[in-house]
Amino acid sequence: MTATDLEFAQHLSTTPKTVEQREAILADPGFGNHFTDHTAIVDFSVDADGKGGWSNARVEPYGPIALDPAAAVLHYGQEIFEGMKAYRHADGSIWTFRADANAARLNRSAARLALPQLPEPIFLESLRQLVSADRDWIPTGEGESLYLRPFMIATEAFLGVRPAREVSFRVIASPAGNYFGGELKPVSIWVSRNFARAGRGGTGAAKCGGNYAASLAAQLEAEANDCKQVLFLDQFNDNAVEELGGMNVFFVFKDGSLVTPALSGTILEGVTRSSVIQLGRDRGMNVVERKITLDEWRDGVATGDITEVFACGTAAVITPIGQLKDGDEIIGAPDARPGEVTMSIRSQLLGIQTGTAEDVHGWLTRLV
Ligand SMILES: *Cc1c(COP(=O)(O)O)cnc(C)c1O
Repeated sequence: MTATDLEFAQHLSTTPKTVEQREAILADPGFGNHFTDHTAIVDFSVDADGKGGWSNARVEPYGPIALDPAAAVLHYGQEIFEGMKAYRHADGSIWTFRADANAARLNRSAARLALPQLPEPIFLESLRQLVSADRDWIPTGEGESLYLRPFMIATEAFLGVRPAREVSFRVIASPAGNYFGGELKPVSIWVSRNFARAGRGGTGAAKCGGNYAASLAAQLEAEANDCKQVLFLDQFNDNAVEELGGMNVFFVFKDGSLVTPALSGTILEGVTRSSVIQLGRDRGMNVVERKITLDEWRDGVATGDITEVFACGTAAVITPIGQLKDGDEIIGAPDARPGEVTMSIRSQLLGIQTGTAEDVHGWLTRLV
């Protein structure tokens, strides 16, 4: 299938949620709890000559997937995903943010997991089709949006170990409120000393479900220690700071610089991360991607050289980090307030996404 012969069949739901049900969900969406009425699907298969192609693009009612119990994804985890958001602007138009970057990253993840490349026009059209079928599902409260979850799974029924020849690309959507719930309080973070989410040569730079499965034991440890999220370190590299389970990390220094861990192959390259780097540079900050160790974090907070720390990702946008707990040691004050630079970059980013701040870099794509 090429960009010019994209034709999505429309199989619209005959039993969508009622207006009352939808409004009740939109009044308090939470995160990842509720799903819209439809899903967009495109299938991939390899023909007898060994040539692969995408076909059977369609919009279907949201519902369970019938999978063969031998489907490769269920056994070998051949799966990747993306996370992005659709925003309704004041004039009713619906936009998404840096979709080209998500399409490119999906294909980098696909290459690493030996899944097929998905042409960007198909990716974008899938988002358009789903969002236009479910356009009434976008909450418009402050910081609210429709979270879009594109994903690709190996559907071929085959227990031998090789890349699947049948694959399905799908998009589902979920109305999203504030990720961590309630007001924007600095979160506390647990330092994972027992677990890594990624290793050299592994899949850390790919957005795949396996990385998340690998992070859950650490996440449980964090919760047992009253922390919201986990920080992963590279213990073979002076405890260099990597990232959280699903968010990248930034440090604001007293001298006006903005530092984030350099991409090492074990860190996921966040679209929010690259946007924050650009917005920092736009403001004349000295933005540096480099190695930053846990020792430097501890010392920097103690001396006051590090003035703010925040995490970023599509789901939670930008979230201030209050305390870091490393076993019995605590770095940072318990009553930390969100930092000025953190909040300013956050509101600029949200402004661009929701259409109230100028999109100087042309990051928005209109979906509907
Ligand atoms: C998705 C993800 C991020 C954030 O990426 P964004 O594109 O900014 O949403 C960071 N770390 C990990 C491990 C991720 O999976």
